[in-house]
Amino acid sequence: MKCPNCGNNLDLNQKFCTNCGTQTNITEDDLGKITVTREKKVLAFAIPFELFIDDSKIGNLPNNSTLTSQVTLGEHVVKIKSPETTISQNITLSNDKKEVEIRVVPKMGLIAAKPKITEVIFK
Ligand SMILES: [Zn+2]
Repeated sequence: MKCPNCGNNLDLNQKFCTNCGTQTNITEDDLGKITVTREKKVLAFAIPFELFIDDSKIGNLPNNSTLTSQVTLGEHVVKIKSPETTISQNITLSNDKKEVEIRVVPKMGLIAAKPKITEVIFK
């Protein structure tokens, strides 16, 4: 998550910003979850995907894998990068939609496989 005052990247359990000292006041009620699942595909299984949320790298997303990240409610930008391209999806989490699951598959492009979002499911 980012500091509401200066934009510094903070861990969700930090009570104060390490850069400017602003109190973050994050409670359990302010948190949601973004889950990204790369569905199992035999085709293009070796193409590496990386998951970014709000320009922070969450991790690698190999074939048939899932990554989950805890985030604050509000707007987030989810990006999936492959060597050929980057796709992005804007997500807004709110009190009645605190969790989202994004399903992604590799889709064959001209040179290599590109990530393609197949479903966005709010819970
Ligand atoms: Zn700050």
